[in-house]
Amino acid sequence: MARRDIAGRGIRDEAVLRAMRTVPRERFVPDEMVELAYEDHPLPIAEGQTISQPYIVALMASAAELGPGDRVLEVGTGSGYGAAILGCVAGEVWTIERHEQLALGARNVLGDLGLDRVHVVVGDGTLGHAEAAPFDAIVVTAGAPTVPAALLGQLADGGRLVIPVGQAPWGQELLRIRRRGDRLVEDRLGGVRFVPLIGAQGSDVDDES
Ligand code: SAM
Repeated sequence: MARRDIAGRGIRDEAVLRAMRTVPRERFVPDEMVELAYEDHPLPIAEGQTISQPYIVALMASAAELGPGDRVLEVGTGSGYGAAILGCVAGEVWTIERHEQLALGARNVLGDLGLDRVHVVVGDGTLGHAEAAPFDAIVVTAGAPTVPAALLGQLADGGRLVIPVGQAPWGQELLRIRRRGDRLVEDRLGGVRFVPLIGAQGSDVDDES
């Protein structure tokens, strides 16, 4: 998978490629999906959510330009797979999920794999995680209608926010927003398709269906 679907599509970040080769994706998918774990598409998980396509996980981790000492916030834990990849590349990761059952499942798998520098938090990630801010990178794995101000406020100087923005599930674009002092510099990384980001600075619960 790493060679064909990730490096083959232009991901060059060696640490991300190593993580994609190392983290056992089959541990993060429902039992009946294990055979499909390394296929090149997202898969359904509990609570009507998805584990993202491997390439998209690698693209976002690479776009976040992570270093080994970085403090990272992931919004949207889902299965915990993306957090595991971030945890292999960065220093310390907080991942926040609004569905408690998903958070508990992810915490178990991450614990089993010994990824003890990945902390799973239950809550509304559109508000970030002020207790651990500022972050060198924030990776949002659900589509936001607009960029949540709270996340921009929790970015360290030089920090990168990687976030899909636009109406879910169509018309979303992946953005990387870099803080340079008081300035925010935006790169557009292409079209993507994610479940909606639901919360105080996201979409309404009604948009989830
Ligand atoms: N990174 C995940 C993985 O590797 O499995 C994929 C996540 S899935 C595409 C998006 C997740 O974002 C869902 O689990 C959803 O419940 C969660 N989510 C949506 N809005 C949220 C919010 N405001 N705070 C935290 N999690 C949220």
